[in-house]
Amino acid sequence: MSLLLEAERYVANQSSHLALNAFITHSGRWLGQAKDADLRRKQGKTKSRLDGRLIAFKDNICTRDLPTTCASKSLEAFRSPFNATVVQQLEDAGAIIAGKTNLDEFGMGSHSVHSRFGPVKNARCSDDLSHLSAGGSSGGSAVAVATDQCYLAIGTDTGGSVRLPAAYTGTVGFKPSYGRLSRWGVVAYANSLDTVGILAKETSTVRDAFAVLNQHDPRDPTSLSPPSRSRIASKLELPQLSSRLESAPLRIGIPLEYNVSELAPSVRRAWYRSLEYLRRQGHTIHPVSLPMTKSALSAYYVLAPAEASSNLAKYDGVRYGTHPEGPNSEDESESYLYARTRGEGFGPEVKRRIMLGAFSLSAQAIDNYFIQAQRIRRLVRHDFDAVFRAEHPLTSNASRIEESTTKAGVDVLICPTAPSPPPSISDLMNASAAISPLDAYVSDVFTVPASLAGLPAISVPVSGKGNVEHHADNDLAGIQVVGQYGDDDLVLNVGELLEGCAI
Ligand code: GLN
Repeated sequence: MSLLLEAERYVANQSSHLALNAFITHSGRWLGQAKDADLRRKQGKTKSRLDGRLIAFKDNICTRDLPTTCASKSLEAFRSPFNATVVQQLEDAGAIIAGKTNLDEFGMGSHSVHSRFGPVKNARCSDDLSHLSAGGSSGGSAVAVATDQCYLAIGTDTGGSVRLPAAYTGTVGFKPSYGRLSRWGVVAYANSLDTVGILAKETSTVRDAFAVLNQHDPRDPTSLSPPSRSRIASKLELPQLSSRLESAPLRIGIPLEYNVSELAPSVRRAWYRSLEYLRRQGHTIHPVSLPMTKSALSAYYVLAPAEASSNLAKYDGVRYGTHPEGPNSEDESESYLYARTRGEGFGPEVKRRIMLGAFSLSAQAIDNYFIQAQRIRRLVRHDFDAVFRAEHPLTSNASRIEESTTKAGVDVLICPTAPSPPPSISDLMNASAAISPLDAYVSDVFTVPASLAGLPAISVPVSGKGNVEHHADNDLAGIQVVGQYGDDDLVLNVGELLEGCAI
């Protein structure tokens, strides 16, 4: 199929799926670009495997030609004068911007319902035909991929925002190791956790985008430097370790603490099916313990809001933030301007995070909240280091490389992405909502540990029903593969392997 025809199909799907609210802005400039890409293909001058493909970007990633709103009223009038590095890298590889996708305001949420443009709707419906949550906060990107409105989508994952929507929509969502992909031009939520992630229908497509984006960016101070990248390569790609998938059986870890009684039966079945599938391929399964799992969620919800409250301080109506409308009295003080800008510009969930963050950083609370949460974060990382066969490549010392190849740890962990299937949007949004904002945080319980430790993780769809020929969409659950820091390729390989038992 020509790239032009492919692009036309995606754009037609965008029009027929407007009610799902996946996009905030559509691009009008794809036609000429798709024709150019077809010409390059004919001349054998294709730029990359993504040349001429339509890619959607979450609307907290800056684009020069389209507005960047973060789904917030406070960025109503904002236009970025530049492209984020990830946008530029993909454009340089020939990709075409399909548009900007809907999200929870500033990435804060788990269900893409906290958007000033209204909630994203999952194409999957509950039994009574009300729409299900698309997951958040990259719900628009996930729905755009799931309903063929684009070839691939870029999201951000601070505590699970790429993996959870992937799990809820039956797509593949990959969060690379922290520092692999540039964050320059990505609007910050919580800098020490923010990661750009990739959503697609298949892991091989995700890998194509990762190959383009996995570069050092001197403009992002947290981007892994070239020496760190070589250090990771030399430690994790030793001959003994690089052949882990091809020749040696993998040692697969199942974290016992994830086997909670609240796990939905369909999720539990999908987890067992994926483990059974890997076992039949000759890989070995090993129970492991990650004792800090229970505290990870609370630590995340102290640390992320703390960073958010400081990041969002700049939306004061002076440099950032929309000026409030209404009379501007002569004696209006600066603090009155700040209060009105912030009061009118931010939605309720963002305000909740700012208050939580400001409290945990305050002089009376910092020791009991922020400092304790940082301690837990270190312990979570320690938990992971204790179970992986490979040492953390940036913290282990050189003399332990050999030891790491013989240590009886596991290569990857396999666990559910979310404890339950997607809830319905009405349960999340009604005034007498069945699901409180705090309940919504629980959806992230299995995704935040990898975020706190900066580890690579992918969610792939697996059916919870084994031997039925035609499974219903609602049987799909996201299964997560988590690897040691820097072990992104292995995580992608195991994700691809698991696709074999997707249905
Ligand atoms: N749901 C989590 C939160 O609200 C994660 C969001 C994200 O990864 N951007 O913080």
